[in-house]
Amino acid sequence: MPERVIAGNWKMNVTVCETVPLLERLMSGLPIAGVTSVVCPSFVSLHAANQILAESGIGLGAQDMRPEPKGPLTGEVSTSMVAELCTYVILGHSERRHVFGETSKLVNSKALSALSVGLRPIVCVGETLHERESGRAREIVVDQLKASLEGVDRASQVLVAYEPVWAIGTGRAASARDAQQMAAVTRYELSTLFGPKTASDVPVLYGGSVNSENVADFLAMPDIDGALVGGASLDAEGFIRLTENASPHR
Ligand code: PEP
Repeated sequence: MPERVIAGNWKMNVTVCETVPLLERLMSGLPIAGVTSVVCPSFVSLHAANQILAESGIGLGAQDMRPEPKGPLTGEVSTSMVAELCTYVILGHSERRHVFGETSKLVNSKALSALSVGLRPIVCVGETLHERESGRAREIVVDQLKASLEGVDRASQVLVAYEPVWAIGTGRAASARDAQQMAAVTRYELSTLFGPKTASDVPVLYGGSVNSENVADFLAMPDIDGALVGGASLDAEGFIRLTENASPHR
């Protein structure tokens, strides 16, 4: 049985000065029994967040990284820099894929690099609206999974987030039924790649306009083990409520 995970992706929305009170408010209500809580602030906030969250039971993740341990890449952040501060790293988020042109091949090199230093990658996959409307959602997600996870040998450390691009930041979440269908596709593909035992242990998250009202519907689905949350992770009380509603003990 995979762990339940609620991860907040703060994107480019929270400064270092804002990070401190936001984390303090989150720590007043998290973690909640039965749910692994993770927050992913921007790179510049990771050091402060690492110090504040020590002993809190809340996991820390980065939103991206380069696959190299170091090197001449002005402005970039390396795997070893992230590994000093974080347990998790989001890879292949749709904004990285679609705004910055990241390919699954690059996501794959980042995933391999993350695993090699003990980071747990949250590998994001998902189709665009056009791909869904042309009946290619399944094919796109399977291709992204295969290419992003090629050669992975510590698959039990991976988390996968199914995030349909059209549902991210739009207020238009997928239906729980549609999300389950794609989570089942994801689970099946994981089983093909890594065997059924490992596949059944990998947390499969849904992401795309999740909030405190709809999270329980997603978590009620057999193949959905958690959520990757953008907008609704920026309000501490709302994120705590969302996590409470995701708890298996509610
Ligand atoms: C995300 O950024 O991964 C996301 C799912 O955003 P939102 O919850 O705002 O749709």
